Amino acid sequence: MEQLISLCKRRGFVFQASEIYGGLAGFWDYGPLGVELANNLKKEWWNAMVQDHENIFGIDGAIIQNPKLWEASGHVAGFTDPLVEDLVTNKRYRADHLAGVDSNDVDELNRLLEGKKSPDGNPLGPVRTFNMMMKTFIGPIEDTDSIAYLRPETAGSIFVNYKNVQETMRAKLPFGVAQVGKAFRNEISPRDFIFRVRELEQMEMQYFIRSIDQEAAYEQWRAFAWNFLKDRLGIAESNLQWHEHAEDERAHYAAAAHDVYFNFPQGFKELWGTHNRTDYDLSSHMRVSGQDLQYFDEETKERFTPYIIESSVGVGRMLLAVLTNAYHEETMDGETRVVLKLKPSLAPYKACVSPLLKNKPELVEKARTVFIALKKKFGMVMWDDNGNIGKRYRRQDEIGTPFCIVIDFDTLGENPDLLDTVTVRDRDTGTQERVAIKDLKQYIEEKM
Ligand code: ATP
Repeated sequence: MEQLISLCKRRGFVFQASEIYGGLAGFWDYGPLGVELANNLKKEWWNAMVQDHENIFGIDGAIIQNPKLWEASGHVAGFTDPLVEDLVTNKRYRADHLAGVDSNDVDELNRLLEGKKSPDGNPLGPVRTFNMMMKTFIGPIEDTDSIAYLRPETAGSIFVNYKNVQETMRAKLPFGVAQVGKAFRNEISPRDFIFRVRELEQMEMQYFIRSIDQEAAYEQWRAFAWNFLKDRLGIAESNLQWHEHAEDERAHYAAAAHDVYFNFPQGFKELWGTHNRTDYDLSSHMRVSGQDLQYFDEETKERFTPYIIESSVGVGRMLLAVLTNAYHEETMDGETRVVLKLKPSLAPYKACVSPLLKNKPELVEKARTVFIALKKKFGMVMWDDNGNIGKRYRRQDEIGTPFCIVIDFDTLGENPDLLDTVTVRDRDTGTQERVAIKDLKQYIEEKM
């Protein structure tokens, strides 16, 4: 974890939010490389989830919704974590984490923590529950009537838009609604870098079904999560595990829940959840709003409340998983190198172009034309003429750039057989190939 955090800072993936003011626990900023990687992850997900399915539709809901939404969803009453306080330092901890159990039961946690000390060796107070929704006020007057919540998950605006999407898209069951966006949770102890944060981004999809299709749909979206991580992100299956929630571990709405766990630096932990939410959400919103959210089946003339299977994953956690999976330290040509073996489609930069020497105008000029042509095609292409070639390769290895392209004297025709060819060095194997400039785009595209 230390090595990853240091790489992320050093190379511009992730910075502490408001670092010059000492940071703010649970908040992080993505730098130039982090934002590219995160955007690539979101693009892959949107492509696999929305664009590859004819019955999944995207939305982008507001972060702040009518507070009644969160009353109906159960978050005002039930989105709580058990908290315990160090009586000397007043630091607060998740009681379930200190007790080493997956439980929200206050009595059980009090029993388990009896006589236990805080991580600083001090006595602990009693276990209390604590609502994790962040609050703000709408309008000029700050009173209880103007309280609103920053959404704790993106799902809320999907449920309340269910009818809008169904009608406008003339969708028939089963169909899904997907969304990518920020969510906020006042986590008691944010930690493990970007694993547990207070401002997060989620990629969620709610799949509306008939109740008889619960099991098949649940299996379908479980398989989707696993296969996406393996095939689209290139994560090794040895780094993935299934974790089925026991009854007392499940959220208030869920009839079944399976998480894909990833082998994070701090151990196997939740990355992606698939939940059977039953008809809990639409029923609650019908009850509280008084609106009819039932589905009418034109063929059978039946009217009923759809069930929902949810697929939910955090962008930051996915980014941490991808970085962990890609990070390697190894020896190459007698030197130790750090290399991010990212899938080329995910890498922040697709290629780096260099003239062999930066003080030879004819090399630089030729290299610039190659650079500009590739940049036009692939967007994220880097120019690097600093230091010797070995150092440039190491720099690109560290940020996962799959191809390093060098323009040398042979490119200019010193060896007539090699006129207008360049060296392309492969990040993972270190091998170099001679490729004609006119074939470069296709060469990179095929490898991606
Ligand atoms: P945890 O048990 O780790 O607190 P959760 O079960 O509350 O997570 P969900 O509510 O199911 O998580 O959220 C769906 C996904 O959103 C998680 O699988 C995770 O990828 C991401 N996520 C949830 N909370 C956080 C957080 N505080 N920081 C980063 N990502 C988060």
